[in-house]
Amino acid sequence: MVYGESALRPPDPTRRVTASQPFGDLDAALYAGPRPDPAQLVLATTTALPVEGARAEQAVSIGADRWLLVVSARRPLIGWLADRQPWLLLAAGLLVAVLVAALVESLLRRRAYALALVDERTADLERSLRELDATQERLVAQERLAAIGELAAAVGHELRNPLGVLGNVVYLLRSRLGGGDPWAAEKLRTAERELAAATLIVADLLEFARPRPPVAAPHHLPGLVDEVLSVAPPPDSVRVETGWPAELAPVAVDRDQLRQVLLNLVTNAYEAMPAGGVVTLNAERQPAAVRLTVADTGAGMDDETRRRLFEPFYTTKTKGIGLGLAVARRIVEAHGGALTAESRPGAGAAFTLTLPSSPPVEEPDR
Ligand code: ADP
Repeated sequence: MVYGESALRPPDPTRRVTASQPFGDLDAALYAGPRPDPAQLVLATTTALPVEGARAEQAVSIGADRWLLVVSARRPLIGWLADRQPWLLLAAGLLVAVLVAALVESLLRRRAYALALVDERTADLERSLRELDATQERLVAQERLAAIGELAAAVGHELRNPLGVLGNVVYLLRSRLGGGDPWAAEKLRTAERELAAATLIVADLLEFARPRPPVAAPHHLPGLVDEVLSVAPPPDSVRVETGWPAELAPVAVDRDQLRQVLLNLVTNAYEAMPAGGVVTLNAERQPAAVRLTVADTGAGMDDETRRRLFEPFYTTKTKGIGLGLAVARRIVEAHGGALTAESRPGAGAAFTLTLPSSPPVEEPDR
């Protein structure tokens, strides 16, 4: 600013201070003294003095006199902002940085969430596909089993009567020739054994194709086992041992169905011991059941056989049809019981049959 000589003299109280030229956005005032005293005002850009608000002061010494130059922004807010410009810039920068960080973090979170969701949905989809595959396989298997079942029922039905006739013929032959002629007796035994095996296969086929609900009545296990052993006597190289505890409660079973179960277990045991061995039948009392174990000293089973032996049509035998154990388990479960197997290769097999006991009755089948 350039002022005339007169402006640097002490103020003349009679002189009226008028607005000088404006300095853009600034108000400026010059005082002939060290303080912004209106009485000392020499020159100002406005009449609205003394200057207030955010302002800058500069004391100026001219000779012995002290003058004060005051400058302030015409709009206080802008002045205030201008004063704090570096801090404001820093704060704005920080704010922007925080906002950007928050935005980036939120985007990252959304991305992570989206990825997790995609993983989850993919896993769901894969699971559903696996279930669909399994269901489809089950349906195909069921359809196949149903078709085989129909065939089995037809074959079983057609074979049952001829087998019955053959059984009667063998019985008649035995009563006429068996006793006196060892050769004939031996041939008849073979015929009876093969007839029993064929009859069991037909019974398994029919039971598999048209399962029948059991008609349970109280029966003693030892009596049923004796019957089974007389229909399917052990081969010469096999010994059968039984162990019955005293006062064994009768079991509530369908007699024909349980005979079929025992026949399957016993003949399987014989077949597992082609070179001979021992079959042991042991019963055990339980609170509301009887547990029978049929164990042999035969070849035992590998892992796969142990896993699959109760599946219909699973067999490892060249002449087997693989229905015996599937049917046996179904019959036992229909009685409210259970049939399980334990075995190791080369260490024999043991089948455990649990059947509900019924209150004791008068020796029904002895
Ligand atoms: P099948 O006798 O016609 O093969 P099963 O359902 O009775 O049908 O038996 C299925 C399979 O279980 C047999 O082929 C055999 O491999 C196995 N198995 C059953 N009983 C025994 C046993 N006592 N010892 C060893 N393997 C056995």
